Formats: sequence, structure tokens, C-alpha cells
Amino acid sequence: MQWHTLAPNDVAKEAHTDLAKGLTTEEAKKRLKRFGYNELKEAKKQSALIVFLNQFRDFMVLVLLAATIISGFLGEYVDAIAIIVIVIMNAFLGFFQERRAEKSLEALKQLSAPQATVLRDGEWMKIHSQELVVGDVIKFTSGDRIGADVRLIDAKGLEIEESALTGESVPTAKLATPLANENTAIGDLHNMAFMGTLVTRGSGVGVVIATGMKTAMGQIANLLQEAETVTTPLQRKLEQLGKILIIVALLLTVLVVIVGVIQGHELYEMFLAGVSLAVAAIPEGLPAIVTIALALGVQRMIKKNAIVRKLPAVETLGCASVICSDKTGTMTENMMTVTNIWASGRMWTVSGTGLELKGEFYENERPINIKKEAVLQQLLTFSVLCNSSQIKEKEHRRYIDGDPTEGALLVAAAKAGLTKAQLESEFTVEQEFPFDSERKMMTVIVKDKSGRRWIITKGAPDVLLEISGHIWWNGRTQPMTADWRKTVQHVIHAMAGKALRTIAVAYRPLTAKEPIPSEKEAEKGLTLMGIQGMIDPPRPEVKKAVQQCKEAGIKTVMITGDHLLTAKAIAKQLGILPPKGKIMDGPTLSRLSVDELEEVVDDIYVFARVSPEHKLKIVKALQRRGHVVAMTGDGVNDAPAIKAADIGVAMGKSGTDVAKEAASLVLLDDNFATIQSAIHEGRNIYENIRKFIRYLLASNVGEILVMLFAMLLALPLPLVPIQILWVNLVTDGLPAMALGLDRAEENVMRRRPRHPKEGVFSRGLGWKIVSRGVIIGIVTLAAFMTVYERSGNNLAYAQTVAFATLVMAQLIHVFDCRCERSIFDRNPLGNMYLVWAVLLSLLLVLVVIYYPPLQRVFHTVSVELLDWILIVGLAALPTFLFAGSFLTRKSRTNML
Ligand code: ATP
Repeated sequence: MQWHTLAPNDVAKEAHTDLAKGLTTEEAKKRLKRFGYNELKEAKKQSALIVFLNQFRDFMVLVLLAATIISGFLGEYVDAIAIIVIVIMNAFLGFFQERRAEKSLEALKQLSAPQATVLRDGEWMKIHSQELVVGDVIKFTSGDRIGADVRLIDAKGLEIEESALTGESVPTAKLATPLANENTAIGDLHNMAFMGTLVTRGSGVGVVIATGMKTAMGQIANLLQEAETVTTPLQRKLEQLGKILIIVALLLTVLVVIVGVIQGHELYEMFLAGVSLAVAAIPEGLPAIVTIALALGVQRMIKKNAIVRKLPAVETLGCASVICSDKTGTMTENMMTVTNIWASGRMWTVSGTGLELKGEFYENERPINIKKEAVLQQLLTFSVLCNSSQIKEKEHRRYIDGDPTEGALLVAAAKAGLTKAQLESEFTVEQEFPFDSERKMMTVIVKDKSGRRWIITKGAPDVLLEISGHIWWNGRTQPMTADWRKTVQHVIHAMAGKALRTIAVAYRPLTAKEPIPSEKEAEKGLTLMGIQGMIDPPRPEVKKAVQQCKEAGIKTVMITGDHLLTAKAIAKQLGILPPKGKIMDGPTLSRLSVDELEEVVDDIYVFARVSPEHKLKIVKALQRRGHVVAMTGDGVNDAPAIKAADIGVAMGKSGTDVAKEAASLVLLDDNFATIQSAIHEGRNIYENIRKFIRYLLASNVGEILVMLFAMLLALPLPLVPIQILWVNLVTDGLPAMALGLDRAEENVMRRRPRHPKEGVFSRGLGWKIVSRGVIIGIVTLAAFMTVYERSGNNLAYAQTVAFATLVMAQLIHVFDCRCERSIFDRNPLGNMYLVWAVLLSLLLVLVVIYYPPLQRVFHTVSVELLDWILIVGLAALPTFLFAGSFLTRKSRTNML
């Protein structure tokens, strides 16, 4: 089909759709069923069986299996079968952990799936791009990624960057008119837009003509390689650490075996014990548990409206030392209401809040009759004509379809009885140059019924003042003298000083014959008409969030396109600007180099009247000062700064696709406070990872040392191989995972941010692991020796007691790991997952100690009740020793 040659109506006919109403939901469903989802096929994933079998790929597990089979042949059936069963159980544990991790990551991917704005049943709505079908009418604006191949039926200043398809990175201007037949190369199809390409400017509407693998992208992509899994810095560090730990564990095991053999143990016996020890001591579950902790943390963040798009961001969040945040919508409600209007030297105030269309106009606090105020009416009329938003209603709820700033202007005009529908019947818009944050203005060219034409521009008053040669005074134009300029500036300052966001309107008449000027030509030589000031109240929760960030050693910086005084007033209300804090404006920022900015950046808390490209400079200067920077943004031009920041943050509601793609964190509610809770969660996740590393490694050190000490002291084996394996299975699995689900300690947001280069074992973790491991080894051996001697060398009994002590010591230690300081700092029942995990582990140990059929398998005997006092006492001893030493240290420091 030569879609590009057809007129829009024929496109609709061929695609069986209605340009005014789109498809019906029912028809769309039918088409979706018939033609499938609008997605590119991905390479197949690993099957569950492969993931399961991969669990056996570990070298030591294979050695263990081989050793077991040999022992089976030597007649030790029970041992052999039991060991194999444990190995399989271990594989299942690994398998479920890995699957769980993968599923969570998959769910995350789904959440950040792209969306499209589609016309269905006559209403514009947002759906997942996946659900687009041929015939759908979709619209897009700058920053959107096109969801399917479309034939354009409307294009307003539309430019699309198609490098994904053509390799050409300069955006192509698009239009909606039919083309001649011969233009068939993708780069020449100027009235079509293709899946995966990017709108860099303007806006457009198009009819979907191909989806999924039938799109131009689908045809070249064939089979997309599965996106590579991203690992976080910590995961990579742990991978390296894992390798070192394997070597250390193996060396120690070999040492155990050699010493054992020298002391007279049989080589065969020592070999199996050694291999079991190696399997137990190697923390093979660590990577999967880290992934689960990361993924579960990420899910907790989703509940708080923060979506992590890139897993490494979870860790970086904990290091953030500066948050640079947009003001409008992120720190404020983005619910604007015009309260003040100035024109011709007169100031009116307007009553009414929000989207209420009723309100009174006052001058000098006295109500006025708006019908008699031609000046005011003219200003309001122009601000409605130069406006691409609309007031709409759905299910009895009024909302603004478009920009809230423009919405406020519409509402103010409606209060004077001027509606967009009515004005659009009187005027036609010949051209529109959309708003962008760079120019800080927008322009339309309109014509009324009698053929009179105007250029109307609205935008930041200080910018409009620069390009206005005249001022409108009581219906007449006067040259803009220095005095007039001062008067206008005075008004701007007065409004901005009250935290009002200001918008000015200016115009220039055009003769009937003048051709439509370019954007540059249109936006000069204007006549300034008046200024409207609107309030945008701060979000109530932001002040507290800013305060909490401050306590956590994180500086908040406000970045806004608004006027300096508006920004200052709001920054003060929110507690962002300290008494000696400085403000910098865009023009000053432009003049400074990154080096110069670096010198002063630490003192600046507010950047006002900035353009998006300034943000990159700010990020760079802060990073050079050694900061870890979070930067928010929503538009196309924000993307470079979002990418360059350590944590790029995009707005979920108002953000463009480009900003979201560049970001590592997306705020579903566009709210500053959400960044603060994400940082809180990020710190917590990192702490949880440290908790179970501490737990797992201390346990493993304990396991190895109890064997090593026994061999050195020429004692019999304190644990048989199968007991070692059982300890590993019971203690490594559930309790470690439960630690990953722990809540943050109270003081987590009262510490300074973590240094990004900080090692895993910093802040005393390495010492805690080794010292605790040594003591667990010692108490286990002590229990073994005491009972061995007392019972007249009853080896099976002594081994059972050692087994019980080792497990108990680990299950008590797991509660220690919840706190950086002492176990007594936190309620042990604070993490019920952990309590249940520990109880279950305990049960699994009691079963093998007391259930006769399992006693045979595990070489255990029933332990007398009184001996549990010895077991629990010794197992709990390390906790009291450490807590005691902590408390004495604390009281000593208190005394000092
Ligand atoms: P922040 O960075 O805090 O979100 P902002 O994004 O609102 O601020 P911009 O949108 O760049 O900043 O707006 C800068 C200025 O441009 C505003 O102060 C206002 O004067 C003007 N402005 C904003 N929106 C429009 C619009 N739709 N049409 C014309 N002018 C606008």
C-alpha cells in the first residue's frame, strides 16, 4: 500500500477508521486479537529446566556429587543418597531464588513499557504502545517516541529524528500532505512517522498503518537480541569477591584435610568431609540473594511511586549527596490559578481557586463589571487564542488537557465569560510556533472573520519585554521608553516577589497580504499588552522531605525556568534557601565556564530562569566537586543532563519518552518527596545487602574454623559431612533472604551519604565477620569437647551437640546482623519474616536430631533436654560478648 500518496480521508478509508473518533474499543480489541500485539519479537529466554540444571554447574557441587557416587559404590548408600537429596534441595533453592529474581526484573520492565496517546470512541486516552492496532489514530508531541508506523494527518512544526532507522541524526521536518509516488525511501517519506523514531519538535496526529514486525523497524530488526542483563557495581564487586572466597574456602578446606590426615584420620573420610565443607563454605547463594534484595527493594519503591529503570541506580541512590530538582510540578502542585492581572497601568485581582470557572474581578478591592473593561477583555482574549490547551470534563470532573500554565489562563478568561470554543469560532489560527523552555514563549498567527490578522506571543515577561518595541496603553501603542521598561519591570518584580509565576502577552498586527513570517521574524518588534500572575502552591509534603534530606547530608537545589524572585520566594517557603544561600540566574550561568561554576556551586541553592541546557553544566560542576548528583527533568532538552547525572530522574506523568528513557528513576507522581523516599529505600537496600553478607560469611567462617580447630587439636571430626551440608542448607537459605527484606534502621536517614567508592567490608564489617566467625567456631568446638569428654567419648552424641550449637549460634547471630551496632538496639520481632525463617530452620534441625529415621541418615542421636542449656548458652555467648563490649564502649564515650 502506497500510504504516502493518499489524502487523509483515503487513508482513513483504507485503514477502516474514523479520523474524528478513532476506532471503537471493541473494534480495537478485535484487531488486536486478529493481528497480535504491537511488539518486536525477542530472542527466547532460558527455559526453566536449563536454569535448574545450571545449578549443578558449580565445580565444587560436581566434585561433591562425584565423591558421593564413589562413597555409594563403597557401600555407604544412606550417606550417598542423603547427600544427593541435599544437593538437589540446594539446587531447588538456588533455582527458586534465581527465578524470583528474574520475575521481579521482568515485572520492572513491564512497568516502564512505553505508552501512546490514542483516540478511541472519540476520546483521547493513554494505552500501552503494545496494544496499538492498524487504524488507531494517535497523537504525539516533542519528546515522544512513535509507537507504530503512522501516516500523518496533522503536523504542527513537527520534526522527527529517525536515526534509529536511517542513521541520519538530523531531524526531518514532517507534514501531512500527500506525496508523489516516487518518494519511497524511508528518509523521503515526509508524511509518515515510524515506530521507534523520536519527535524532537512540534506535534502531530497520525493513523497507524503497521504494527509489530510489519513496521519498518520490525523488518530490519528481525529478531531483537534479548537485552543484556545489567549488573550493579556491587554485584560486580561481589562476583570478584566470590572468586576470592572460593579460593580461600578451598585453601582452608585443603588445610583441614591435610591436618586431619596428618592427625591420623582416614583420607577417604577427610576427603568427603573436605568437599562437603567446601560446598558449605562457598557462598554460592550470594549473587541470587543480592539480586532478590535489589529487586524486592525496587518493588517497595514502586509502592512509593518510584520506578527504577536501571538496577545500578538502587545503589547509587544511597550515595546521592545533591538533588537538583525542577520546581514546577515537582516541588509545587502544578495547579495554577491566575490571581493578578496588570495592563495599562492598572492591576486587577481575580477570585476563585483551581478549575472553578466562576470568579470575580476586582480593582482596588472593589468588584468591577468585566463587560465594561475592554482592556482586560482584550488581554484575556489573546491569552486564550495563543494557547494550545483546553478545559475538558470527564465523568463530571474538570481537567486541563495540556499545560497547567495555559489552563490557568483559560480559567481566568472563562471567569470573564470568554471561552475557547466561542473564540475559535471567531478566529482561525493560521500558524503556531509551540512553546519551548529555551525561548520561554509561544506564538500564534490568527485571523478574524473580517480578515484582520495578528501575531500573538505569550511568555516570560522579562523575555517579552526584550523583544517588545512598544507598549499598549489604554488601547493605544506607545514606544517602549526606558521609563516604560522600568514600570513593567517593577510590576514583574512585585508579582514574582509574591511567589507568582508570571506570563506576559504581546502582539503585532499583520496586513492581509503579508506572508506568514518565520518564528524568528514573528517574535520581534511586538507590543507588550499586559501580564498575568498565577499562584502555584508548594506541595505540602516537600518541606518535610527537604528537611529530611538535609538531615541525611543531602543538599536540595531548585532549578527552574521561572523568574528569580518567584523561585526565591518558593525556595524560602520550602526551606531550601538557607540564610547565606545564593541564587544564580540563567544569563549569569551562561557566562560562567564549568570551571568557574565549580568554584561557587556549593553555595548556590536556586538556579532561576535557566534553560534545560544549563542543567548539564550544573551537573558537571557538582560532579567535579565530588558530589553524587540526582537531577530531575521532563523534556527532550533535559535528556543530556539526566543521562550525565549519577541518578537521572524523569517525571512519570509530565515527562516525555526521551526523558524517561534517559532516566534511571521515574517518579510516578512527579513529586520531589518521592525522590527522598527512593533514597531512603536505596540506603536500606544497601544496608540489607551488607546484613546478609555479614551473616553468610560469618557463618561460613565459623563452619570452617570449627573443623580446622578440631583437626589442629587432634580431635575426632566434630561434624560429619551430611551435617555440614544440612547446616548450610538450613541457615543459608531462608534466614538470609529474610534479612534482605528487613526494614531500615531508624537512623538510616540521619547518616551522611555513603561514599561511592566505599568497599563492601567498610565500616567495620570485615572485622565483624571474622571476629564473629572465630567465636562461633570456638563455642561450637567447646560444646563438642565438653560433651565428648563428659559422655565418655560418645562421638555421635558430641557431634549432634556440636551440630545443634553451630546452627543455634548462626540463628542467633542472624538477629545481630539486623543492627550495625548492638542487637539490643532493635526489637527482634521487628522483622517477622526473619522470625518465621528462623523458627522453620530450627524445626528442620530438631527434626533431624529427634526423628529416628532421619537420625540414621544424619548420624544424630537425641539430645537430652538439659544439654540444650549448654547449647543455647554457648550459642548466645558471642552475642552477649559483642553487645557487652559495645555497651562498655558506648558508656565510655558517654562519660568522655
Ligand atoms: P521548572 O523548571 O521549575 O519546571 P518551568 O519548567 O515551569 O520551571 P518553563 O516551563 O521553562 O519553566 O517556563 C519558563 C517560563 O516560561 C515561565 O516562567 C513562564 O513565564 C513561561 N511559560 C511557561 N509555560 C508557558 C507557555 N505554555 N506559554 C508561554 N509561556 C510559558
